[in-house]
Amino acid sequence: MDLGIEGKRALVCASSKGLGRACALSLAREGAQVVMLARGREALEAAADDIRQQTGARVVTVAADITTPAGRAAALQACPDPDILVTNAGGPKPGDFREWSREDWIAALDANMLTPIELIRATIDRMIERRFGRIVNITSAAVKMPIDILGLSNGARTGLTGFVAGLARQVAAHNVTINNLLPGPFATDRLTQTALKTAQNTGRSVEDIMAQRQAGIPARRFGDPAEFGDACAFLCSAQAGYMTGQNLVLDGGLYPGTL
Ligand code: NAP
Repeated sequence: MDLGIEGKRALVCASSKGLGRACALSLAREGAQVVMLARGREALEAAADDIRQQTGARVVTVAADITTPAGRAAALQACPDPDILVTNAGGPKPGDFREWSREDWIAALDANMLTPIELIRATIDRMIERRFGRIVNITSAAVKMPIDILGLSNGARTGLTGFVAGLARQVAAHNVTINNLLPGPFATDRLTQTALKTAQNTGRSVEDIMAQRQAGIPARRFGDPAEFGDACAFLCSAQAGYMTGQNLVLDGGLYPGTL
């Protein structure tokens, strides 16, 4: 299927690795011009080179922290008028809520709620004028199925979800859609880091923790980031214009609800 986004401008945040990188690759494969962003320049340039080689797409890089005003300004300077916006940032640290200070909460809200809202605010009016816009927020399956040690993530991402639910209906008439992609366990660095933390806390081996996690997933495996990237590309497609305000869980069947 031709997704109808050839030549569209895409800003993909936090995209040198993992799920963001996979979204950048899938969009580039569909012919979008992609601006990729991450803090570490080396991994970012390597990822961009790889995507250029695989797809022949025009890829621009911005080495910046998207959770800061300066980082967002740099992103928007490189891509002032995106047709496609994929918001993403690293997830907050795990732990017990008794250990978290007000500053920890502000940092989580900044990264996983206010940064996407700021980026949407800066770009959505031009999408409305052009009568085409696709916004995808990478959130977490924890929005539907909270993870106890990830309380900062549960809270901040649910705040974003509530805001977006209202805004999506305000802009739908202009062919601007806003959807959230909710990853369950995908095989990325983030997943390994979370397993390492559990290993330190429990004394169990990382292999043991990973095997037990996979056994609990109906699909019996972790997600492949490429599967996530392709779902993102579909949400950004011309064909997905009637799908908005949704929270799409990609988790191999882990979330047990009927709806
Ligand atoms: P990852 O493999 O660790 O990749 C994170 C990417 O984001 C890297 O490119 C990183 O590069 C970039 N990044 C992080 N913080 C940034 C910042 N402040 N500004 C700009 N770039 C930043 O993580 P992932 O697994 O793809 O996860 C992506 C998001 O999905 C996270 O919020 C995570 O919590 C969430 N999630 C993931 C899973 C999973 O199973 N993988 C499940 C649920 C939710 P630099 O470090 O160089 O900046």
